[in-house]
Amino acid sequence: MDYIDPHIHMVSRITDDYETLSRMGCVAVSEPAFWAGYDRGSVDGFRDYFRQLTEVEPKRAANYGIQLFCWLCINAKEAENVALSREVIAMIPEFLDHPNVLGIGEIGLNKNTKNESITFLEHLELAIKYEQSILIHTPHLADKYQGTRMILDMLSDDSRINRDRVLVDHVEEHTIGEVLDRGFWAGMTLYPVSKCTPERAVDMIEMYGPERLMANSAGDWGPSKPTAVPDLIFEMRRRGHSETLIRKIVYDNPIEFFSQSPNFNNHFQSR
Ligand SMILES: [Zn+2]
Repeated sequence: MDYIDPHIHMVSRITDDYETLSRMGCVAVSEPAFWAGYDRGSVDGFRDYFRQLTEVEPKRAANYGIQLFCWLCINAKEAENVALSREVIAMIPEFLDHPNVLGIGEIGLNKNTKNESITFLEHLELAIKYEQSILIHTPHLADKYQGTRMILDMLSDDSRINRDRVLVDHVEEHTIGEVLDRGFWAGMTLYPVSKCTPERAVDMIEMYGPERLMANSAGDWGPSKPTAVPDLIFEMRRRGHSETLIRKIVYDNPIEFFSQSPNFNNHFQSR
């Protein structure tokens, strides 16, 4: 089955992974900007990273028939440095017209600090000013519930935010309900060490239905499995779900959400 991974960090993966993804049916990926495993020292470090996401990585993906789209931001971990964050946010518009850029992300919170919130709100201003979609990272484990609530409150407090254009990622059983109830899109991250397994993701699809719901691998430089979305497809088949429902989660829904970004509409090619 053709599928799209809506959240995967291919800059961290080897070329063999592209080949495997392609053989498993992956036709497109969306790659949010994230933490590189170390704090970058200057705005130029981010400028080079954004060139990698917009110029280099799409070519590597295209060699295997995969279209690579991306999102730009300074991630929540480095957002603790408000001065650097402001420099990065001021530089991002240089890249927004690039044909593979879908919006601002993955922004959010890490340790739920005041500085992270300041940078989050300034990213929202950027997204509103340039009419960009938003992709959100919610915190890990112990910080997830409170951090997700803080994020949803900041989003809901701003009437200029169009909730149809916001994807809240890494939802789990204790956060998915509120994300969907408040009218946002939700992403389930299938991760071997935390977040969510394919089995738990299918449970959530069965409990909440398929509307505004997607699944991703978040494949990155840590323990992660870039082929986790096919694992979800297999688990849904094993439980007897229809091909139509499976396709909605792994293909139709990502297209519906991404199509709100003009660059996706203009450049995505379905097979
Ligand atoms: Zn990520």
